[in-house]
Amino acid sequence: MPTRTVVIIGGGIAGLATAVRLIRYGIKPIVLEKRPFLGGRAFSFVDSDTGIEIDNGQHVFIGACDQFQQYIKDIGASDQIKLEKRIGFPVLKRGKTSWLKARKLPGALANLSALLGYRHVGLTGKLMILWGLLSIKFTRLSMNSFHDLITFDEWLRDHGQNNETIQNFWNLIILPSLNDDITEVSAHTGIQLFKVALLGAAQNPAMGIPLSGLSTLVGENAKKYIESNGGEIRTGVDVESLHIAKGRIAGAYTVNGELIEGEAVVSAVPAAAMTPLIPEGSAESTDFFTPAKTVKTAPIVAVHIWYDRPVLTEKFVATLDSPLQWVFNDTDLKSREESGQHIVISLSGAWEWQDRTKQELREIFTGEMAKIFPAAQSATITKFTVVKMLEATFRVLPGSQKLRLTQRTPLPGFYLAGDWTDTGWPSTMESAVRSGNLAAEYIVEDTGTGERSSQPLSLI
Ligand SMILES: Cc1cc2nc3c(=O)[nH]c(=O)nc-3n(C[C@H](O)[C@H](O)[C@H](O)COP(=O)(O)OP(=O)(O)OC[C@H]3O[C@@H](n4cnc5c(N)ncnc54)[C@H](O)[C@@H]3O)c2cc1C
Repeated sequence: MPTRTVVIIGGGIAGLATAVRLIRYGIKPIVLEKRPFLGGRAFSFVDSDTGIEIDNGQHVFIGACDQFQQYIKDIGASDQIKLEKRIGFPVLKRGKTSWLKARKLPGALANLSALLGYRHVGLTGKLMILWGLLSIKFTRLSMNSFHDLITFDEWLRDHGQNNETIQNFWNLIILPSLNDDITEVSAHTGIQLFKVALLGAAQNPAMGIPLSGLSTLVGENAKKYIESNGGEIRTGVDVESLHIAKGRIAGAYTVNGELIEGEAVVSAVPAAAMTPLIPEGSAESTDFFTPAKTVKTAPIVAVHIWYDRPVLTEKFVATLDSPLQWVFNDTDLKSREESGQHIVISLSGAWEWQDRTKQELREIFTGEMAKIFPAAQSATITKFTVVKMLEATFRVLPGSQKLRLTQRTPLPGFYLAGDWTDTGWPSTMESAVRSGNLAAEYIVEDTGTGERSSQPLSLI
């Protein structure tokens, strides 16, 4: 029986991953989630018309997301995700399709080979991209470095790139990965992304897809694992403040005044929800937490269209010079036997779309689908819906590195998790899992495992 209890505020992936890792150390986690369901920004709901589980937005991962994949394995759900062997997807531009598809070669050579058959960039452009990738390989990044002060677009133009390579290659990857345009994101994050993905192992940039709805995948599977291993999950519990006892954070108060005690507390909520929890304190603690107040967010809009027949033969396609950005064939991805097809258009950095009405979006996107996919012209639309997530991800603007706080805080007994904390990864499920793992490791380092030892606790 664990003798130590840790309270975790937030039942998104970061909070659940913290709980799963603490269980490994024999510590009992109590997860408090204010909404009635788990998963946070990665959730799904059952559509009342079709009875189908719909994700709040298309979530993908890449082969390099090793801690996310380990989390999925730990909660017994490896059969609910699928990872391709290598990078490979079609890119449509004004009626022409060309694939970015890796050959069977070792390591990063496989990834570079994807450029060979890619016809949306000419030969000179391809040489420029190789030069850009080589420059990335030899660039050394450090915290608060020059690379966090300029945009990736500026850095690329300083390293031989032009409009063709930026629009048809670099931003094709940056926009969906960082949920922001290449002219907005820091060079630091852009360089890091390409170092890890394209310059890493052959499977690093390969696309991974959830095969079940997100609430099942990351939420329900985790709940089953946590509860059957002695942990507790409480949904519908909104935390209002932290409890301080003997100079340390020792629990949390809910909005209903209930105190839930633990030997440590982890905030696994977004930055904007974390800062109001912090008690008035020392200058040291104010200095530490204040940067989190300026973390900015970016929207994603998902357009769902149901056709009465298949209109897309691939599982997913990227588009250039079209508002469609990325189009996913949900029917195929989830292996559903149905005569029609459920298409999800994932719109990143969606400021332009977030305030449009459903009717406006319907006209624009069904029209664009018919223009780009001929089969959509004669197909009947049986249902149309839109899911807008206005604060989908945090932004990696120049200067944002210093806003990402470490998981160990100056408040004894208080730890942070959440994709926005300092993990080295952008706003992703991988970052959320990494943050939870780090928070759990710090707790164990500082307070010991679930076994009560005769040694006094070593606090920060
Ligand atoms: C539409 C969309 C598409 C995305 N696509 C991808 C993708 O393709 N690949 C990818 O890797 N990532 C993607 N992401 C990002 C990914 O979903 C997030 O990075 C990740 O889910 C963040 O997890 P988290 O646990 O850090 O935070 P959250 O998911 O925000 O979890 C925080 C939880 O805390 C709860 N909470 C807040 N305040 C309190 C309180 N006071 N008391 C109790 N509970 C509280 C919230 O309700 C929430 O459940 C996408 C996100 C969206 C929205």
